[in-house]
Amino acid sequence: MKYTPKYIATRSVTRLRQTVARLDRRARWTLGPLLVLLVFSVPLWSAATRLRSIVLPASAASVVVPILVYHSVAPTHAGQNREQRLLDVDTAMFRQQMYYLVANRYAVVPLSAVVDALQGRGTLPANAVAITFDDGWLTQFDNALPILEQLHLTATFFIITRQIGPKFMGVGELKALQRAGMTLASHSRTHPDLTKVSASQLRDEVAGSRQDLQKLLGVTTDLFAYPYGCWNKRVAAVVQGAGYRAARALGDGIANTGADRYALHSVLATDDMAAFERGLHGSLVAARIPSGGRPHGLLLSATR
Ligand SMILES: [Zn+2]
Repeated sequence: MKYTPKYIATRSVTRLRQTVARLDRRARWTLGPLLVLLVFSVPLWSAATRLRSIVLPASAASVVVPILVYHSVAPTHAGQNREQRLLDVDTAMFRQQMYYLVANRYAVVPLSAVVDALQGRGTLPANAVAITFDDGWLTQFDNALPILEQLHLTATFFIITRQIGPKFMGVGELKALQRAGMTLASHSRTHPDLTKVSASQLRDEVAGSRQDLQKLLGVTTDLFAYPYGCWNKRVAAVVQGAGYRAARALGDGIANTGADRYALHSVLATDDMAAFERGLHGSLVAARIPSGGRPHGLLLSATR
């Protein structure tokens, strides 16, 4: 007899029947329905997969990578209000959080790698996490950089390009960050709420800060972070038009899709280890900033 597909199919069914028939009565009642389920689940599964590929375009695939956001990293000191105590992560706490990532086998990747994945241009390792710093505080250079270097971790620093020294990093420090393998990116020129500025100021803050980084450091950045995390469609369109390929917002958890590229969700890192661990697992109540204000707006005004 020829081994036609029909013969093979018939033979498979016959063998299946024979196998079931060999089982004792008790086992048949258990395994019979299971085998039937197994036989029918294959076409059902492939149909479901086809349907999903039709309903969801490839760009809608979710990339689950916590993007951590730090501000100042400095020892706790007297006179800090509650907001500052949370947002100014103590150096020892920062070390503990970085050690936690290493000990728990997180793979720290550059933020650009997350954006690559969202654009379908690359894959990420399991347990990926990205580290970012806002505002360019000098404390990031003095206290965070040595810990990052010691653990061979990379991070992206979002710089306010018209705030260079003395409480903020100067050109020397920024160049040292570059040499250490860190990414420098834009956090606007003067840190206004971009949803509230004129069209010309918006362009100046967004495109101008990109030019500043080019002049100061010779880098052409394609990453932006919204001051205070504030954005709307108009702001995002200007950011995209200025040549950036992604922009990070504040909060909203650990999952992003291609549609979130100009408002990347992130996790605000605070001086609280339990909240840090919750944030890594995607809890939206990771950081509880009291008073309901805009978190690092308060920080900036209080420490400037
Ligand atoms: Zn900021």
